[in-house]
Amino acid sequence: MPAIKDLAMHATDQSTPPPAQMENQAPDPAHVLSLNNVEVIYDHVSLAIKGVSIDVPQGGMVALLGANGAGKSTTLKSISGLLRPERGQITRGEVRFLGQNIDALAPQDRVKLGIVHVLEGRRVFEHLTPDENLVAASAVRGNRHDMLRNKDMVYTYFPRLHQRRTAQSGYLSGGEQQMLAIGRALMTQPKLLMLDEPSLGLAPFLVAEIFDIVRRINKEEGLSVLLVEQNAIAALEVVSHGYLIENGRVVMHDSAEAMKKNPDIQEFYLGGAEGRSFHDIKHYRRRKRWLT
Ligand code: ATP
Repeated sequence: MPAIKDLAMHATDQSTPPPAQMENQAPDPAHVLSLNNVEVIYDHVSLAIKGVSIDVPQGGMVALLGANGAGKSTTLKSISGLLRPERGQITRGEVRFLGQNIDALAPQDRVKLGIVHVLEGRRVFEHLTPDENLVAASAVRGNRHDMLRNKDMVYTYFPRLHQRRTAQSGYLSGGEQQMLAIGRALMTQPKLLMLDEPSLGLAPFLVAEIFDIVRRINKEEGLSVLLVEQNAIAALEVVSHGYLIENGRVVMHDSAEAMKKNPDIQEFYLGGAEGRSFHDIKHYRRRKRWLT
């Protein structure tokens, strides 16, 4: 089975060179991705994230956790370049990929550099088969040879997709569609895979299966992963580190093990709040340690 990193190097030889401003700059050996004090404003008025700093080590797997509206998707869009269609912009700070500032790059140029963003909601071409979906995604990078090898790799990691490769994608189960969305991302030969809430709406056993596969890809291919999740239970099982974001700010950064033991995390994200009334939870939220 071909390794993604090898394929990416191969594709770099074959495809469009990276934009001119990226050349002649030494990559940061420690981090594939660094956000430094990033602030994002929508519509020139609405402040969505404030001073967010996040690092993803080379070959690491990191979670960005938080509740609805905390700023997780905005953070991912600031990395993939998808803020502009939503009238959002980075007004402070910077995003660095392999040591280079990428803030001025268009989304398609970021994909060519190796950043891929799997959006929330399992977006696939429903009228195409999984096989056709994978081929379509490969148009971004590489040649036919790369496409066949990448497809083989995706089917090896996701055997269910191989079984359903000729079905219409609209008729796949939610879990299979999520696998296909991740498979499409892998076809772009990424160096950084960003997943936005892949567990949403899936049964726990499927979430565990998909997260296990992503972790295998991370380990075996050396692919760096930034996993955005509300489901902290599942996410902290597979990542090495996590960040917790609330109201647009990073309020906690620690190892997965330490985060799992943190009482506030246990209370709100690991199910400890069960049985409490919404009022109690709101009251508790107001006095959370990291907000005081
Ligand atoms: P969710 O899981 O619900 O998507 P999230 O943590 O990903 O939550 P974001 O979607 O990043 O949070 O939203 C952060 C803040 O930015 C919220 O207050 C949200 O209302 C606001 N926001 C997000 N997208 C836009 C937009 N296109 N225009 C204006 N405000 C936005």
